[in-house]
Amino acid sequence: MRQVYLDYSATTPVKKEVLDAMLPYFSELYGNPSSLYSIASESKEALVKARTQVAELIGAQEKEIFFTSCGTEADNWAVMGTADALKDKGNHIITTKIEHHAMLHSCEFLEKHGYDVTYLNVDEGGRVNPADLESAITDKTILISVMFANNEVGTIEPIKELAGIAKKHKILFHTDAVQALGNVEIDVKDLGVDMMSMSAHKIYGPKGIGALYIRKGLRISNYLHGGAQENKRRAGTENLAGIVGFGKAAELARVNLDEHIRHSSELRDYLIEQVQEKIDHVYVNGTMEHRHPGNANLTFEFIEGEAMLLYLDMSGIAVSTGSACSSASLTPSHVLDALGIPVERIHGTLRFTVGDMTTKEDIDYVVDTLKKVVSKLREISSVSSEKGW
Ligand code: PLP
Repeated sequence: MRQVYLDYSATTPVKKEVLDAMLPYFSELYGNPSSLYSIASESKEALVKARTQVAELIGAQEKEIFFTSCGTEADNWAVMGTADALKDKGNHIITTKIEHHAMLHSCEFLEKHGYDVTYLNVDEGGRVNPADLESAITDKTILISVMFANNEVGTIEPIKELAGIAKKHKILFHTDAVQALGNVEIDVKDLGVDMMSMSAHKIYGPKGIGALYIRKGLRISNYLHGGAQENKRRAGTENLAGIVGFGKAAELARVNLDEHIRHSSELRDYLIEQVQEKIDHVYVNGTMEHRHPGNANLTFEFIEGEAMLLYLDMSGIAVSTGSACSSASLTPSHVLDALGIPVERIHGTLRFTVGDMTTKEDIDYVVDTLKKVVSKLREISSVSSEKGW
């Protein structure tokens, strides 16, 4: 049976070049970078190289990149580290209703410890209105955190404009760029962001390795305490093979960025066009104008997303009903809810995300299968509604 993976926003396969770069760091060059003998100095050099490769992808300096265990840790560090470092200045944080749970749950934790959090609304396309941000600022605001690209609907936020507002009010600005990295041109200096979260497994690197960009000169409190790794700012023996893999994935993402965006957006647009041509009652959620190049978030009216997902899986097709992290729960997506989509439509929504290994033939197979699955499920749901089930 044909296998088609259309869930690149959940995770990506590790590219062969990335795996090849990583392999020596498991059992040949295994030295602890903190040690003083020569096998360790090779590990130290590999660390510097990877840090430079990640920095170059986002226009940062090598010393501004701090490796973490994942994107979630980077988000937690940015918000907790800022809250702690600036607790004497204020206790107010501004974020949005559509953030990843890594940010939302960190904010909820801080609310239990005396911080106030404003969760900004978004428009029906998923964008934050800069005027709303400006009016939410108080003299107690210490941090603004707005994600770069949304993981469910792919909306790209006006980060430069929002960071400009933060700067005007002398407030720190963080962005969760886990989905944007490698999918959007990013230059942290031009954008004016103070902190930015990243993760390797969304850009054809390994799972379990991320990074936080912290602008030079900015001090936030440490989140992990222990040894002197990461310039004394993030303790714990480095995941060297993971870091090397992240570095290589970042280099490939930088070199291939234009081609990756062209390939993904062409296939994404082809998928949307074909689905709309061949299936009735389909809606595209989120703005098409400011969108992650691989994301198609589609609502199929009158059916359940979970049922579609299972039928597609039986045909070898992997998609998501929302963000990977929340698809195990049946609560309606907080992101689609924030876009004003009614609950019954939310339940009929699937997220398709294409990537470098996706082909036009894959899309044809998916659209063909979808057509059959949708008509079968609509038949069942119309029979059940006639019978009053
Ligand atoms: N932020 C966003 C926007 C994400 O999509 C994800 C993962 O799906 C994360 C953070 C968490 O990243 P990680 O899986 O590396 O912890």
